[in-house]
Amino acid sequence: MGLKSLAPSGHLHYSDYLTTLITLTTIMKTLTVIIPCFNEELVIGECHRRVKNVLDALPNPSEIIYINDGSRDKTGTLLDGIAEADPQVKVLHFSRNFGHQPAVTAGINHCQSDLAVILDADLQDPPELIPAILETQRAEEANVVYCVRKSRAGEGRFKLLSAKLFYRTMNWMSEVNFPLDAGDFRLIDRKVIDEFNHLREKGKYIRGLISWVGFKQVPFYYEREARFAGDTKYPLGKMIGFASNAMLYFSKKPLKMAMGLGFLAVMVGLVMAVWFTLGKIYGFSHAESGWTSIITTIIFFGGVQLITVGVLGQYIGILFDEIKSRPEYIIDRKSNVSNPPSTH
Ligand code: UDP
Ligand code: MG
Repeated sequence: MGLKSLAPSGHLHYSDYLTTLITLTTIMKTLTVIIPCFNEELVIGECHRRVKNVLDALPNPSEIIYINDGSRDKTGTLLDGIAEADPQVKVLHFSRNFGHQPAVTAGINHCQSDLAVILDADLQDPPELIPAILETQRAEEANVVYCVRKSRAGEGRFKLLSAKLFYRTMNWMSEVNFPLDAGDFRLIDRKVIDEFNHLREKGKYIRGLISWVGFKQVPFYYEREARFAGDTKYPLGKMIGFASNAMLYFSKKPLKMAMGLGFLAVMVGLVMAVWFTLGKIYGFSHAESGWTSIITTIIFFGGVQLITVGVLGQYIGILFDEIKSRPEYIIDRKSNVSNPPSTH
């Protein structure tokens, strides 16, 4: 659209031109929606229909990047069908299941737009909120709009409690302040995408890294819905892996706590030694030569040592993984994608 055509009388002041230009460029920011999918054959059709409806109504040029994270059901075939019918849809097929975080990372690496929204395929985070999120970004000139769950429908008590505990522990442990109860459902702009693409670590805790990157980050409150269909792809084992990865990558507190435990054990040992020695001399303590106290002490301090070594081991394990420097994901094939990933 020519700017002149916007001038009603042809006497627009220079600053009006500038304002119009700024408005136009903000309105026309390009948008990518990144959707990781693992065994989501039951939801993928509905997900695409709803996201597409939302994008079609937006003035922004947009695209969708689906990442098929090594699905073993019909997700891959369904995505191929969608991409064939719609050039606006890009699909990255992983060579196997690499996990949710690598899938989102691949989406961000392949995004060429000004803005990106990260969305789950299961429709727990309603795509219909995207226009309001975009509006928040525009109004606040934010670099990140992170979506905070006011409520979470359809989740079990255990998931709710463990998630609550997790976000609060993370905040206590880490040097970075994370927003509470915010998942990966968020909007990020080009500045954040570029910084993210510079990050070299392989074990990415994405929501943490986006907070860590900084810039202007604003919350957006919403009600989380129940999963549209199918089961969670985050069983307990994966959840524990995710949580421990997040903590180990973002905090050295476990190491400090292990050392604290060591100091505590030494103090207890010293006090006991002094107490029993003086007791023997002055006769106020009658320590029996029974084995119960000895065995208990051995097991207790053995445990303290093993925990300490274990914590150390976890960090060494991370160093081991990072030093191997294997890629975070391997792409088997791509549909409608021509650009290589932008990692630096
Ligand atoms: N997901 C993935 N790879 C995995 C596990 C999950 O790409 O190994 C995707 C999944 O398809 C979904 C999103 O990540 O789009 C979030 O997973 P899910 O909804 O199962 O997690 P929950 O909401 O139960 O924590
Ligand atoms: Mg979900």
